[in-house]
Amino acid sequence: MTYTIEYLTERIRASEKPYDLEKITAAYELANEAHAGIKRSSGEPYIIHPIAVADILLEFYMDTDTICAALLHDVVEDTDIPLETLRKKFGDDVANLVDGVTKIGQIPLNTTKEEQQAENIRKILIAMSKDIRVIIIKLADRLHNMRTIQFRPPEKQRKKALETMNFYAPIAHRLGMSAVKEEMEDISIRILDPYGAQTIEEMLDKHKEQRDTFIDIIKSRIRERISDIDPPPTIEGRVKSVYSIYKKVYVKGKNFDEIYDIYAVRVIVQTVIECYNVLGIIHDIFKPIPYRFKDYIATPKPNRYQSLHTTVIGREGIPFEVQIRTYEMHNTAQYGIAAHWKYKAGLSGNVSGEKRFDWIRHILEQQQDSDDINELADAIKVDLAPDDVYVFTPKGDVITLPTDSTIIDFAYAIHTQVGNHMTGAKVGGRQIRFDYRLNTGDIVEIQTSANAHPNRNWLEIAKTSEARAKIRSWFKRECREENITEGKNSIELEFRRNNMIPSEDFILELANMQHFDNIEDFYAAIGYGGVILSKIMQRAKDLYNSRNADKVQETEEEILSRNYYKRRKGGVIVEGIDNCLIKFAKCCNPLPGDDIIGFITRGYGVSVHKRDCVNVINSPESEKERWINVMWAGGTESESYNATIDIIAEDRTALIADITSVIAASRLPIRQITAHQLKNGNGNVIVTVEVASLEQLNAMIGRISKVQGVISAERTGIV
Ligand code: MN
Repeated sequence: MTYTIEYLTERIRASEKPYDLEKITAAYELANEAHAGIKRSSGEPYIIHPIAVADILLEFYMDTDTICAALLHDVVEDTDIPLETLRKKFGDDVANLVDGVTKIGQIPLNTTKEEQQAENIRKILIAMSKDIRVIIIKLADRLHNMRTIQFRPPEKQRKKALETMNFYAPIAHRLGMSAVKEEMEDISIRILDPYGAQTIEEMLDKHKEQRDTFIDIIKSRIRERISDIDPPPTIEGRVKSVYSIYKKVYVKGKNFDEIYDIYAVRVIVQTVIECYNVLGIIHDIFKPIPYRFKDYIATPKPNRYQSLHTTVIGREGIPFEVQIRTYEMHNTAQYGIAAHWKYKAGLSGNVSGEKRFDWIRHILEQQQDSDDINELADAIKVDLAPDDVYVFTPKGDVITLPTDSTIIDFAYAIHTQVGNHMTGAKVGGRQIRFDYRLNTGDIVEIQTSANAHPNRNWLEIAKTSEARAKIRSWFKRECREENITEGKNSIELEFRRNNMIPSEDFILELANMQHFDNIEDFYAAIGYGGVILSKIMQRAKDLYNSRNADKVQETEEEILSRNYYKRRKGGVIVEGIDNCLIKFAKCCNPLPGDDIIGFITRGYGVSVHKRDCVNVINSPESEKERWINVMWAGGTESESYNATIDIIAEDRTALIADITSVIAASRLPIRQITAHQLKNGNGNVIVTVEVASLEQLNAMIGRISKVQGVISAERTGIV
């Protein structure tokens, strides 16, 4: 077979289905260019492989996007073309399919521990559950790799065969793709147990001629008796797969001669009624073996397989299995889930329901007696709980988190100490922000440092109550003094916002109401978040009003003018609020000179952002009222601020040393530095420094830009 674009084009034309040939050709051209010059182990050009994978998928009549994704499936992983390029050129569907296939490939499959297998299968199911086409591409990819496995070194062959036998074939089985499953198993068993497989093949070969004659006789005998069915049924005879016989001999310990169903004859008819009619005729011609009849039409297998099975014995005394099914059942048996594309869906798509979770639900509904029901039930949870995401550790363990969870939630879900010492995280090898929303299939690597500790703003970022509880308990334990100050500041801020000027007695009364003996414990509880201020404010207001009913209330204007533009910590003046806690938002790290705005947080004072910070721009309408004017006080430069600089440079030795020495020469303390290599070979250094002003920062960025090999140096909002 010569896998060329001409061959593929011809196959597409021959299918007579409305494929978008232009899009497919464009996908081919991009893949061909990207893989140019690369050879497979067989010595052939690499592009042979994606074309062969596309060819397998054409056999299933998979849609245009799937064929494009098949052609492009190794581009992101093996070449320096980014996913975004595919997204721009071929759309979201193709890009997401390629991304899904790449991600499945990255899930570490533990092939040594048997108990891990179910778990690994589950992972693959989960990773692909968003779009079933992902696994169909992956199965085709693996099938072609197995077909050409002889060119790989022996250890690789063994590893791939184990993976295929343990994971991919069972998945193909579960999806009802029996042709794929059988071919995968037969290739794998020849690698894993060459001697055993060869013995089976020899036994089969020994009687090949007799067997062929035998099958021919059976077929013609059946044909004679059903000749009045119109149109005439299809009758096929075959030997079962090597592996299915291998299992019976070596796993179930049966004698080759005792295996009833080495031979199988298949009768394919138009209607279900004809199936039962044919069964009656078969039982009339041959002698049925008791207890060997199975009605998978009335009770389909979990993977939707339907057929009548019966084992009978002829005049020759040789038992054989007869399978009776309709053409539709036959297609489902051969192609499983893929039959949907082949026979039902148009190529235009509209498979959105099916390609997501319905297939899993379907499997569950029909699940009757499967031994792996628990495992499947787990997989179903994805379906029933679409609010969850499934994220992997680098070792391949699955962590289940609610949608919109962050790396903070992930770290605490692994272990409290991992959360408490986290400094950052990578997803798929890329450094990400703390507020990055995790997606199903993400592989997350948490970075920790013994000196690191949680930040208060994590409480706002974390999604799960578990993570927040652990963060709060850390603050409760570690920072009583700080908590008291925080709590006191928050309470003052909140009271002033409500035009209340409380006495210490009043606050003590409030503390007692919340079952605290003294004010300090109460402040501390507010500080670490044990008491949520917004939740007790209404009661506090009621109490305050009842205590001060006779006093004349200050008007809002009076309070505002009294407090207008008070100087505050960090050289920032907050409009209309006195004595409030100021913090600088980690998302944009504002510096003196930046245009700034304040946000009244729940319980943690005012957080100062740059006006052009994304969090300001994207702030929801509902929070509009919480933004307040702030300004730099000017004059005092004694405070310092953290700023993060994202540097991209040609990767070379001593790059980091040169960058740090430039910063050191400016006498600016480095707070954090991380570096990694980008896919295109360049280096990416992210450094957080302490600076006193915007001018100081800009001057240093200028100096860094002059370091040899530096391509860009920009200030970022990365925490
Ligand atoms: Mn591949």
